[in-house]
Amino acid sequence: MGRTSKDKRDVYYRLAKENGWRARSAFKLLQLDEEFQLFQGVTRAVDLCAAPGSWSQVLSQKIGGQGSGHVVAVDLQAMAPLPGVLQIQGDITQLSTAKEIIQHFEGCPADLVVCDGAPDVTGLHDVDEYMQAQLLLAALNIATHVLKPGGCFVAKIFRGRDVTLIYSQLRVFFSSVLCAKPRSSRNSSIEAFAVCQGYDPPAGFLPDLTKPLLDHSYDFNQLDGPTRIIVPFVTCGDLSSYDSDRSYPLDLEDGSEYKYTPPTQPPISPPYQEACTLKKKGRLAKEIRPQDCPISTADAMPQ
Ligand code: SAM
Repeated sequence: MGRTSKDKRDVYYRLAKENGWRARSAFKLLQLDEEFQLFQGVTRAVDLCAAPGSWSQVLSQKIGGQGSGHVVAVDLQAMAPLPGVLQIQGDITQLSTAKEIIQHFEGCPADLVVCDGAPDVTGLHDVDEYMQAQLLLAALNIATHVLKPGGCFVAKIFRGRDVTLIYSQLRVFFSSVLCAKPRSSRNSSIEAFAVCQGYDPPAGFLPDLTKPLLDHSYDFNQLDGPTRIIVPFVTCGDLSSYDSDRSYPLDLEDGSEYKYTPPTQPPISPPYQEACTLKKKGRLAKEIRPQDCPISTADAMPQ
């Protein structure tokens, strides 16, 4: 009962499992591609904030047959391996991770950089938007080092109060910037995707990892006149496709009997693992007694 209720509530969650995708997010990238032909001519791509890996699955299938290293996937979390995908575990806001990614593309730049990064949301909108913007800017900074001219950058954004500043910064580097909302992304979520095509940095621009792209002292209210960029907003995904905010009956396809599908690839070491173990033992949110600890005090004593 508990297991099927999420299938009923979230049709894309259910379809992801049935189609072998590791996460429902796969449909977001597929619907963005339907609208913008993101994968056309792409042979090398970077998937930033990739775990559990459904975007990497899509990328390796769409630009597949290219061999290992043509898709580089990066995340803070460990990710189960995927054929043809080279994985880097690290924080994209850290110089060491950025350098590792950039090194991989030296002499052979990428056609596409995608970033579905999301911070752990706090519910405090300003904080969440700020953290999201930091991830996007870290991703953009990496993109400026690895993208070939004409390349494409797609990144999750939160459409908050200061999103105009982000659009303006993106327009400095790309000839076309759009805000896209795939049908599989819930209307109730402020999430959308910046689709930036035609990488064309300003003349004389030299990518520099030491310079943050976000100037913290910037006064957002100054964005006026030509500096205030309004980008087109596009919804994508066929209108007849499933609405991610609706609940669907479990026999939605052809009336055949519904069968529960387990997740394609459960996370291999999620940050909530300890909480799951405690819950199984009925000890979540209860005091942990010394005898519940994996190493007892006696074991820890020097011999
Ligand atoms: N696109 C993925 C997929 O299709 O499976 C889902 C990505 S999930 C919505 C967001 C991911 O962002 C999480 O796996 C999280 O670990 C990652 N993330 C958040 N902050 C990060 C950071 N600073 N560096 C690297 N990854 C980060």
